Amino acid sequence: MEEQRQQQKAAEIARPAGWDKDDEYLERMAKIRKEESRAQFTKISGTEYLKCTCTNCKFSFRYHPLRRMPGKCPYCEVDVPRFKGVF
Ligand SMILES: [Zn+2]
Repeated sequence: MEEQRQQQKAAEIARPAGWDKDDEYLERMAKIRKEESRAQFTKISGTEYLKCTCTNCKFSFRYHPLRRMPGKCPYCEVDVPRFKGVF
C-alpha cells in the first residue's frame, strides 16, 4: 500500500494541477508562433522577391523565396525561417 501511495505522488508532480490536453495544444501552438515571429515577409510588387524584416534586429533585406536566399539575416546572422505563404 505504501508503494502505491508513492506512485500517485509522483504522477502529481509530473503534471501540474489543471493540466489537460488544451494546455498541451496551446503550448505547442505558442512554440510554432514563436518560430514564425522571427521574421516577417512582405511582397515586393513587380518582383519575385520578398522584403524580409528580421524581428531580432529589425533589419530589412530582400529575400528570394524560391532560392531561399539569403539563408540568414545579413546583419545579425539569425536564420531566416522558411516562407510558408504563396509566392
Ligand atoms: Zn537580424
